[in-house]
Amino acid sequence: MYKVTVGLEIHIELNTKSKMFCSCLNDSDEKEPNKNVCPICLAHPGVLPVINKEAVERVVKTGLALNCSIAKHSFFERKNYFYPDLPKGYQISQYQAPLCQNGYLDLPGLGKRIRIERIHLEEDTGSLHHPEKAAYSLVDFNRSGVPLMELVTEPDIASAQETREFVKELQLILRYLGVSDANMEKGEMRVEVNVSLRPEEQKEFGTKVEVKNLNSIKSVEKSIEFEIARQTAVLEKGEKIIQETRGWHDTKEITFSQRSKEQAHDYRYFPEPDLPPLDIQDDFLQEIQTEIVELPHQKRNRFAKEYHLSERENELYINQRGLSDYFEKVVSELRQWMSEKYGASIKEEEHQKLIKLASNYIATDLQALLKEKGVEFAEEKFLVTPENFAEFLSLIYTGEISSKIAKMVILEMFEKGGDPSQIIEDNGWQMVSDTDEIEKAAQEVIAANPKAMTDYQAGKQASLQFLIGQVMAKMKGRAKPETVSDILKRILI
Ligand code: ADP
Ligand code: ZN
Ligand code: MG
Repeated sequence: MYKVTVGLEIHIELNTKSKMFCSCLNDSDEKEPNKNVCPICLAHPGVLPVINKEAVERVVKTGLALNCSIAKHSFFERKNYFYPDLPKGYQISQYQAPLCQNGYLDLPGLGKRIRIERIHLEEDTGSLHHPEKAAYSLVDFNRSGVPLMELVTEPDIASAQETREFVKELQLILRYLGVSDANMEKGEMRVEVNVSLRPEEQKEFGTKVEVKNLNSIKSVEKSIEFEIARQTAVLEKGEKIIQETRGWHDTKEITFSQRSKEQAHDYRYFPEPDLPPLDIQDDFLQEIQTEIVELPHQKRNRFAKEYHLSERENELYINQRGLSDYFEKVVSELRQWMSEKYGASIKEEEHQKLIKLASNYIATDLQALLKEKGVEFAEEKFLVTPENFAEFLSLIYTGEISSKIAKMVILEMFEKGGDPSQIIEDNGWQMVSDTDEIEKAAQEVIAANPKAMTDYQAGKQASLQFLIGQVMAKMKGRAKPETVSDILKRILI
């Protein structure tokens, strides 16, 4: 058996309004090629780049959220190489003095800390398109000069699963911070994995292999699993691992050699003469610090303390900020309703019951509906206001509607919005409080089910449940099960 070591290099496109060194629009959804371009991002001679402050802020914000120290003094450098998607012949990047260093990210559930070596700021390249069967390629410079943040971890990760957790948690943090949409499928977040194996007893790391072109969390995970198996087989044969860069074939689900260490670039880095150094002031740092929102791990802890929900429900809210904001609005409406109705005498456990009820409808009924429609939750498109949702829940809580009616009411609310009391009235779904009507239904059910009656009288409790169900069905859910039960017992004695 071998120990697995993984380190990650992750490129993240920042969602700033404009590009890194010019005022062109930074729009990853632009379909028309070479629309958002100018002499600067096309590298015409004589142009001068200007640093995008918003991009610097986003990197610093990410660094602070990931517990990094922020360099008071840093600068840009030129990384020289030739490629058709890089018109300048060099990429402006940071090498010696990255903006952020020595941070970490704790993995929820795994009890593990992954150290972050550095986060620096650079620019993206253009993109190449290879039309099918054509003897040429096309270059689109819309992406050229888009602000790119590169994050490098220490080789602290020990499995494909840990890697997945790291990437997922990082993606969530980036979205919470609002620095990037971090959509891997759109190339907004690009993960390169470095994988090595070593015998259990060996101290120093084995030779690493780098895998590129991973465009989903699934391919990140699969490529590591593939490399573990491939490298194990090589080592088992007594052969050596070659240090190289490999690509990932998404449909075949294999890695393949792209270039070996001997062909590695010499980038001849040197300080970018056209840009001033970056000096970060304390008040700039403090201002950014105050803009950092509640982060996923903090929210996880708070939710666990405040709401006592199931693991599944918790993660649903942690992963979908919009949904959890909505849930919390409903909870606060419920709290208000409770204190208005019961005053100071409300008990925390009663409130917790309502919270559970609220979450149950949001995490189950609402999710099912959203899934059916194939959309994600967005409050601005959702027809049920938190007030109406809370009122709906209070009606269940006070027994004014049965769970059966509740299902019909909530469905109608999801579809058309509106006030639940009004919906109940319009549809004639109010509870029947007239016991004569319930008794009549009970008598009919008993007459139709004589065996259930004798079974119950002989001591079989399940028969009573069956009869209650029958009466409830006859009443179309418009009776309280407790009332039905009382009436049935009275008749059957
Ligand atoms: P290079 O000099 O080849 O760029 P670095 O030391 O800068 O290598 O590391 C690049 C990435 O590879 C980092 O994410 C680091 O954590 C990871 N890494 C370094 N050594 C190993 C190793 N032996 N096994 C797995 N990952 C490694
Ligand atoms: Zn431009
Ligand atoms: Mg390196």
